[in-house]
Amino acid sequence: MTAAPSSSPVLSAGSLVKTYGTAVALGGVDFRVAAGESVAIMGASGSGKTTLLHCLAGIIQPDSGTVRLVAPSGLVDVATLSEKERSRLRRESFGFVFQQGFLLPELTAVENVALPLMLGGTARAQAEQEAAGWLAALGLAGFETRRIGQLSGGQAQRVAIARAQVTGASVVFADEPTGALDSNTSAEVMDALIGSTTGRGRSLVVVTHDENVAARCSRVVQLADGRIVDEAVTA
Ligand code: ADP
Ligand code: MG
Repeated sequence: MTAAPSSSPVLSAGSLVKTYGTAVALGGVDFRVAAGESVAIMGASGSGKTTLLHCLAGIIQPDSGTVRLVAPSGLVDVATLSEKERSRLRRESFGFVFQQGFLLPELTAVENVALPLMLGGTARAQAEQEAAGWLAALGLAGFETRRIGQLSGGQAQRVAIARAQVTGASVVFADEPTGALDSNTSAEVMDALIGSTTGRGRSLVVVTHDENVAARCSRVVQLADGRIVDEAVTA
C-alpha cells in the first residue's frame, strides 16, 4: 500500500454542503484523493458517507462547494457540469462498485464487463476481448460465459470490479462493496479491488462499515453528522 497524502490530488472537493429539507447530509466537507491512493470513508449510518460519495462521483450535485477532477484533458469542475456532461464523466472517468453488484443477470460475466465499452462505441469483439482480460486479471479466467446467477457472491463482486474498470476509470468508487459477503470472501474482494486500482496507479474511494476493509486502505476518513471528524493515514 502506498499512502500518498502529500502528492497532488486527482480528485478534490472543498466545503461540500448538501441538505435534504432540514437534514444536513454534508455540512462542509473537504476531501481529496491522489493517484494510486485508496481512501476509506467510515461513519455511522446516516453520517453522510453515501452523499459524499455521490457528490464526488457527480451522481448528485452539492448545494454548494467544489469538486475538481484532474482529467487528461485538464481540470474538470464536476459540481457545475450539466447532467449530460456528468453522465459522460461518470462513464469515461469513474467506475462504480456497489454492495449489490447491479450486474445484468441475463448476460454472461464477459458480456457484463464488455457492456460499458460497447456503450462507449467499442465493437463487440474488441470489447469482449478487453473484458476477458479484466476477468483474467481478477482471477476469473474460465468463468467468462457464466451467467451472474451461476457465480458465487465474491465472484460476482469481482465481475463488478472488472466492469467498473474496463473503460480505464481514473477513480473507482465503492459503496459497501463487501457488505453482503462473509469475512474471507470480503478479504478476497478487497484484495482484488485494491490490487486492480491502486496497483495500477488508479484511485479508490470506498465507503465501508468494516474495520478490516478500512485497514487495507491508505487513508481513513471518519464522518459524523455530515462532517469529517477524524482522518488517519494507515500504517
Ligand atoms: P450514510 O451513507 O452514511 O448512511 P447518507 O449519505 O445516505 O448516509 O445520508 C445522510 C443523511 O442524509 C441522512 O440523514 C439521510 O437520511 C439523508 N438523506 C440522504 N439521502 C437522502 C434523500 N435522497 N432524501 C432525503 N434525505 C436523504
Ligand atoms: Mg450509505
